[in-house]
Amino acid sequence: MLRRFTVAALLCALLLLTGCTGADTPKVLSLFAMDTYMTLTAYGKDADEALSEAGRTINDLEQLLSRTREGSDVWQLNHNHTARLQAQTAALLHAALQYAADTDGAFDVTVAPLVEAWNITGETPRVPSEAELAALLPLVGSEHVHFSGALTTLDADCGVDLGGIAKGYASDQVAAVFAAHGIKSGAVSLGGNVYVCGSRPDGTPWRVAVKDPRGDGFACTLALRDAFAVTSGAYQRSFTAPDGTVYHHILNPATGAPALSDLLSVTVVCDQGTMADAYSTALFVMGQEGAEAFWRKADGFSMVLITADGRVRYTPDLADQLTKQEGVSYVYESIPR
Ligand code: AMP
Ligand code: MG
Repeated sequence: MLRRFTVAALLCALLLLTGCTGADTPKVLSLFAMDTYMTLTAYGKDADEALSEAGRTINDLEQLLSRTREGSDVWQLNHNHTARLQAQTAALLHAALQYAADTDGAFDVTVAPLVEAWNITGETPRVPSEAELAALLPLVGSEHVHFSGALTTLDADCGVDLGGIAKGYASDQVAAVFAAHGIKSGAVSLGGNVYVCGSRPDGTPWRVAVKDPRGDGFACTLALRDAFAVTSGAYQRSFTAPDGTVYHHILNPATGAPALSDLLSVTVVCDQGTMADAYSTALFVMGQEGAEAFWRKADGFSMVLITADGRVRYTPDLADQLTKQEGVSYVYESIPR
């Protein structure tokens, strides 16, 4: 094999479930879906039913949203260039286009032709030539997606990839399932996408660990209640070319290449999984300065940035919730407003 695909880490934000004491026993569902390992934990009398329904919901969404699964909504749209999308797919695509506008194109699901050319998360990753990328760049942009009644259409050779937002959307749907079943305490990790429902059974907040992108441990932990925490990072998925260059999976839609970010990871915390997922990808592309400027303007979310020069920079509202990790060499800094 010429090039080796590596999954550097499947879970980038980890739930620390230790310390859950008391009479309540958690019900746990583990599954592999959307190309990642997922663990769902719920407490309460309807926990089993809630988990079964949440698992079905995730599998159904994968069936709709996967770029690579033949027959999915997204597959049909990309292959036929026109499709009658299911309501959820259409709603998510609309939301994704709105996030593209909000982030000035840093998050852009029309990067699909570039994602396919690099194929970083696929079996045969490769480095496209400059000429190939230059030819693909004009295919990227929200203007290539058209809605007309029930029909969605793409311009020739264009495509969409919801991989940067689908797990966040799935976590919102899981939250809705938990609410419908009256779950008051639960925690869900869909790869790097975490949702914590309520508090731990003993009333203390859930603890969500932000992975150390440079090692096996954590860079910090966050004490959270009723929140979504989504991490994007170059370390999560990458491949090493024969010349030793490492290429990661988050592309800069403006250049067509993996984003040359001064960040190692971005964790966005807010009350909506879809937004947290879109923003974490976008802010990684923007880099530290762009991400901090975006936060000052957009508000409505919190974040933890881990920079390539060894700093953990967090929004000031997280000060009381963030615990520094002992034994790591990071400098911890609150981001000025
Ligand atoms: P995430 O792990 O949520 O940051 O999403 C990364 C995945 O989203 C990649 O594996 C691609 O499938 C897709 N992607 C890559 N770059 C972008 C981008 N700039 N905007 C939207 N999706 C992207
Ligand atoms: Mg994302």
